[in-house]
Amino acid sequence: MEILSYILIFIIGSLFGSFYSLAIYRIPIKQSIMHGRSYCPNCNHKLGFFDLIPIFSYIFLGGKCRYCEQKIRKRYILLEISTGLVFVAFLMSLNLNIPYVKPYEILYLVFGILCISVLYIIGGIEKEKHYISNSTLLVGVLFQFVHIIYLYMLNVNVYKYVIYLFFMLICILVNTIFLKKKARRSYTAEILTLCFYIATFVREELIIISIILTLFLIAIKINIISKKDNKENILINKNNANIPIGFYLCFTNIIMLVIQNFIF
Ligand SMILES: [Zn+2]
Repeated sequence: MEILSYILIFIIGSLFGSFYSLAIYRIPIKQSIMHGRSYCPNCNHKLGFFDLIPIFSYIFLGGKCRYCEQKIRKRYILLEISTGLVFVAFLMSLNLNIPYVKPYEILYLVFGILCISVLYIIGGIEKEKHYISNSTLLVGVLFQFVHIIYLYMLNVNVYKYVIYLFFMLICILVNTIFLKKKARRSYTAEILTLCFYIATFVREELIIISIILTLFLIAIKINIISKKDNKENILINKNNANIPIGFYLCFTNIIMLVIQNFIF
């Protein structure tokens, strides 16, 4: 029975993963993520039902589009497998007594999944397009707001979460003013907004660990970039200067969100 529910949650997770792929592709080009069937980005052919089954469609089609034979990027299947696994790990971390789940436990599961979804989409867009999606962050603010009300109803002391939300709104305001005046976004304000968003869902101790991990990943990335540059004898390569800090923050905090329930 338990194994069946884990298989089911893995499938649900991989379906979410395939939705994240769609969102990561569509949000930057301002297409609706709710309407319109998925299509092949190469030949624009609408995908059939069997092309939409996560993981299996990739394996059966041999990693190629059925219509134009363009190779499908490995990123898609990796995203689907990883969300499936993250969902299973998250469910295991909650240690639910499955037939007798309490309503507040279901709500916690829903909030966790929403938080993971926002992190996946922001991280994915940052990795692909090198910017932090403000519209996704705003959806995050909304979840955060509802989450605070939920915690308040559970008699949890919410003052620090209200402060985080307040700071997050200030950062968004700063970014908006910056955007209007300089026609450029403030990356610092965006990264801070992301941090305040994460702080509502992940414990402070673990956020510190995630920041250390993020710095570690940035150091590795810089090391790789400088080695590459030495090989190619390029002193300044602006394209390589993009270090997706937001992506690393999202990645490490998804892990923290899962392990926090195992530890505490
Ligand atoms: Zn195609």
